[in-house]
Amino acid sequence: MEKNSIISVQNISFSYDAVEIFKNFSADFERESFTCILGESGSGKSTLLRLINGLLIPQNGLVKIDSEVLTAENLIQKRLEMGYVLQGNSLFPHLTVYQNMIYCLKLLKKSDLYCQEKITELLHLVGLKNDLLQKFPDEISGGQKQRVGIIRAIAHSPKIVLMDEPFSALDSETRDKLQILVKDIHQKLKTTFVMVTHSKEEAKILATNVLEL
Ligand code: ADP
Ligand code: MG
Repeated sequence: MEKNSIISVQNISFSYDAVEIFKNFSADFERESFTCILGESGSGKSTLLRLINGLLIPQNGLVKIDSEVLTAENLIQKRLEMGYVLQGNSLFPHLTVYQNMIYCLKLLKKSDLYCQEKITELLHLVGLKNDLLQKFPDEISGGQKQRVGIIRAIAHSPKIVLMDEPFSALDSETRDKLQILVKDIHQKLKTTFVMVTHSKEEAKILATNVLEL
């Protein structure tokens, strides 16, 4: 099982102070799969994504990303192998749409020309127009913000894309469109997706694997 896993969560325990969220919990995520994590509110879905992303460290057990154990030493490098679409609107409000999109590319010291070409290509992919680039997040719609968040998460070609209820705040029409978009991106990029959702219907549309917490 572990051999073809790009993410391997092994016997982890995690508590916030006195509240135990995971005890001896394990899960494997296959390369290029699309896993939807389902579970009641408070079951630890967001916590699991944070543990995979290294924003939280388990008290016991380990998390392997592409066969390497996440440690304090390799955390920053490993995190750049992932893209993260957070719950709600997580764009940096003081940065323009373009600056938000190239955030990870800049961390990876990509050239201006590389960034411009990459964003032009991705704008096309998600159906956004150029004239949005110099706007600030509070000047665009909810659906546009999520598209920008998706571009920010995939621009640096991560091995893994983590998404935490990315569509929960959107109207159903926009949500349907973005579901199709994400499915399309998954098929084109051959990246591994892990998405938290509370919708079984959404999981049915998108998932190749389902993990219930
Ligand atoms: P989900 O995403 O499945 O709704 P979370 O992973 O956000 O659940 O939270 C799991 C549990 O941990 C909840 O009971 C929540 O209240 C608690 N929790 C989440 N974050 C913190 C925190 N930073 N400090 C203390 N408790 C937390
Ligand atoms: Mg959550």
